Amino acid sequence: MIDNTTVSFLYRIFPSKKIRGFFKCTMKISMIGSGYVGLTTGTCLAELGNEVLCVDIDEKKIENLKNCILPIYEPGLKEFVEKNMREERLKFTTELKSAILFAEVIFIAVGTPQGRNEEADLTAVREVASLIGKYIKSYKVVVIKSTVPVGTANTIKEVIKKNLSGTCEFDVVSNPEFLREGEAIYDFMNPDRIVIGTDNGKARKIMEQIYSAVARAEKPILFTDIKSSELIKYASNAMLATRISFMNELALLCDKVGGDVKLISKGMGLDKRICPRFLQAGAGWGGSCFPKDVRALIKTMAEHGVESKILKAVVEVNENQKSIIVTKIKRLVPNLKGKSIAVWGLSFKPKTDDMREAPSITIIQSLLKEGARVMAFDPIGEANARK
Ligand code: NAD
Repeated sequence: MIDNTTVSFLYRIFPSKKIRGFFKCTMKISMIGSGYVGLTTGTCLAELGNEVLCVDIDEKKIENLKNCILPIYEPGLKEFVEKNMREERLKFTTELKSAILFAEVIFIAVGTPQGRNEEADLTAVREVASLIGKYIKSYKVVVIKSTVPVGTANTIKEVIKKNLSGTCEFDVVSNPEFLREGEAIYDFMNPDRIVIGTDNGKARKIMEQIYSAVARAEKPILFTDIKSSELIKYASNAMLATRISFMNELALLCDKVGGDVKLISKGMGLDKRICPRFLQAGAGWGGSCFPKDVRALIKTMAEHGVESKILKAVVEVNENQKSIIVTKIKRLVPNLKGKSIAVWGLSFKPKTDDMREAPSITIIQSLLKEGARVMAFDPIGEANARK
C-alpha cells in the first residue's frame, strides 16, 4: 500500500481514473452536508486522490453544484471543484442511501445551529445517523466533522446501532474542523493540526491514511480520546473569542486614557507566548461558529454544574461592542435622522460572503432605528447581505 502523498503526486501526473483502481489506496468517501465545511473538505479530499460523493438535502444546491455553480464564495474552491469533477473524483447527489452504500468512510458535516436554549441543535446530525444505521450493509467509519458537544459521538453510536436492520460493524470517530472561512483550502492543505478522536485501532489507521498527505512532521495528527477531541473544538473557538473580547475591552480603556490599541496588539503579539493572531479590536466577533459555539460550551458547562464566568463575560463584552460603534457615531453626529451613512464591509470577516451573525447586521439595524439612511458595500458579501 502506498501513502496519499504519493497518490496525490501520481494523480497530478496521471489524472486518469484507471490509476485510482490500480493503486487501490485511496478511499471512497461520502460527505453528508455540502455547505462551507462539507463542500470544502469533500473537494480537498478529492484533490488528494479520493473518490468523493458530496450529499445534501438541498436539491437546488446539488443541482447547481452539478453545474459547477457554488453556493458559497471561498477563494480557489471553484477551480478545485471544476478540476476534480472533470477528473471524476468529485460527484454530487441528494440520494443519501446510495452515498452511504458507496462509501468506506462517511463524514457528517451538516449544520449544528444554535438551539432554542442556546445549546447546539443536533437534529440534522441525529437524522443522518439514523439513516446511516438504516442503510449500512458493510463496515464503515463514520466521521463527525460537524461541531458537536462532548458526548455526541457516543449518542451517534447508539442512534446508528438502534437503527441497524441486521448486524454490521462500524466505528464513530470525532474529527473537528478548524478551517477559517476565506482561507479554507489553504487551511485544509496546510493544517496547524488535525485532531482525531477515536478509541479504535482500525478506524485510526483509516483516518491516518486519509490525512497522511497533509500531515507534517512538525504539524502531526493529534490522536485523542473521543471526548477530548470534541472538547478541543469548542475550547479553541472559545479561546479565540476570548482574545478578541479582551482586546475590545482594552480598546475601551484606550478611548478613555489614550493609547493605540493596534500598537498594543502589536506589542503583545510579538511575545511568542501570546502570538499576534486574534488580538484585533473591532466591531465584535460574529460568523457562523463563535457565537453559537461559545454559547453551547457555556450551556454544556452549566449542564454539568460548572459556571463559566469567563465565557459569559466574553459574550457580554461582545454584545456591547456591537453597539459601541453606533454610540461613537452619535458622539460625532448626535441626530442621525435623515443622515446618510456608508458602511464598508458586511460579511463577518474579509474574503467570505458569510453573513451569519455578522456584526454589520446589528450595527446597520441600530443606524436605521436612529433614522439614518444606510448605503452598504461589500466586494463579495453583497448578494448574501441583500437577502
Ligand atoms: P452549512 O449550513 O454551510 O452547511 C450545512 C449543510 O448541511 C447545508 O448545505 C444543509 O443543506 C446540509 N444538511 C442539513 N441537513 C442535512 C441532512 N439531513 N442531510 C444532508 N445534508 C443536510 O454549515 P457549515 O458552515 O458547513 O457547518 C457545518 C458544521 O461544521 C457545523 O457544525 C459548524 O459548526 C462546523 N464548522 C463550521 C465552520 C465554518 O467556518 N463554517 C468551521 C468549523 C466547523
